[in-house]
Parts: sequence; structure tokens; C-alpha cells
Amino acid sequence: MATRSVSLSGTDKEKASQIVEASQRLVSIGMNRGSCGNISARCETTFKGSDSFLVTPSGIDPEKMTPESICLMNMSGETVEGGKPSSEWRMHRDIYDSRPEIHAIMHTHSPFATTLACLQLEVPPFHYMIAVTGGNTIPCAPYALFGSQELSDSALDCLENRYACLLAHHGMLALGHNLEHAMAIAIEVESLCEQYWRILQTGHLKILSEKQMSAVHEKFRDYFKK
Ligand code: 13P
Ligand code: ZN
Repeated sequence: MATRSVSLSGTDKEKASQIVEASQRLVSIGMNRGSCGNISARCETTFKGSDSFLVTPSGIDPEKMTPESICLMNMSGETVEGGKPSSEWRMHRDIYDSRPEIHAIMHTHSPFATTLACLQLEVPPFHYMIAVTGGNTIPCAPYALFGSQELSDSALDCLENRYACLLAHHGMLALGHNLEHAMAIAIEVESLCEQYWRILQTGHLKILSEKQMSAVHEKFRDYFKK
């Protein structure tokens, strides 16, 4: 079992367990396979005086993950033991750096989101639930090599004021105020991508107007109020 040179707070230990559970859940519901995808969460433990986050290890099947194998990383990309961090750590780090309200991120290679991403398609407002992703579309970030700074930059551009985007020829990204929220966004995006895929088979498309989508955004402000 891996040990840590920086001890996590009780809350962050709990978060590491939740990250393992969420990674296993994404596999069990068919949203990821093998070691595809990754998950992170902002944490309260600081490392070398910098804000930090917990991120899944690279290339490890979620079945083999333990809370101790989840990596602690700071905003400079320095990590403590817990294994090699996800190859996509730049994407996670850059989102936390520029979006203070985001506390959890999930990246999947889920079948329908990935199919549309491989067609470089943006998902239009064919259903009102597109609004849960923050905008009127789910954009598709231009292709860049996995794990590269270019991919992180491309995703960050697309994610302005949004909780989700597709990554061309790769998969999807879902952001949340916490792990539960990011999971809900990831599941909803995959479901919307499946619906859009089915619509594409018909050769017809009807979309909601900007005015109709504005009314949904307005109504969601109350609907999601705690
Ligand atoms: P990691 O196992 O390094 O997180 O990579 C999986 C992945 O999805 C790369 O984009
Ligand atoms: Zn990936």
C-alpha cells in the first residue's frame, strides 16, 4: 500500500475514497472502460504552500485503485507519492486555476459522447436539458494529443461559462461544484449525446430558440436552488 509524505485532512481522505468509488461507478455504468478517463477533486490539504487537488493515478484500472493510490498534486504540477498522476493533470490543474467555483472534474470516453466527438460535432439545443451544461450547446474542443498542454488550452477555451464539453477524437469533460454534481453532469451529457445520436439517424433536427433556452436557464436558477 502506498504511503504519503503529506498527510491528508479527514475531509480529503473521504474525498479520495469518493474518487475511487466514482471511478468504479463510471466503469460499472458503461461510461468508461479499463483505465480510460480520470477524475479529480479540489482539496483543502495544501502542498508546498500551494492549493492542491486529488487526481486519479495514470493507467490504473479503477478496480485496482485504493484511496491511497489517489495522487495529491499542487497547482505547479508537483505531486507526492500515491503513484504517477493522470496524464491529463494539466487539464484538471488549468480548470481549477481559472474556475474557482469548480471543485470536481470527470473525464470519460463514454460511447455516445465519444462517437459525436469523433465526428467533431457540437451538440445543439435539441432538448431543454442542454441548459444544465451552462450554455445552449455542448461544444467540441479541437483535437490535440492526450495529456498535452495544447489539449488543456483547447478544452479551457470551450469551457468558458460551461460545465461540459466534448474533446474531438477523444471523449468528454464534465465539471461540477462537487463530485456528485460532476457525476450528474457527466451522466446527463452522455444521455443527451445518445439522444442526439438517435436524432441524427432520422435525418431531421428541430432545435429550441435562444428565447426558449433563456427561459430554461431562468427556470433552472430556482430549480437547482438548495
Ligand atoms: P490516464 O490513465 O493517464 O488518466 O489517461 C486516461 C485518459 O483518458 C487520457 O486521456
Ligand atoms: Zn482520455
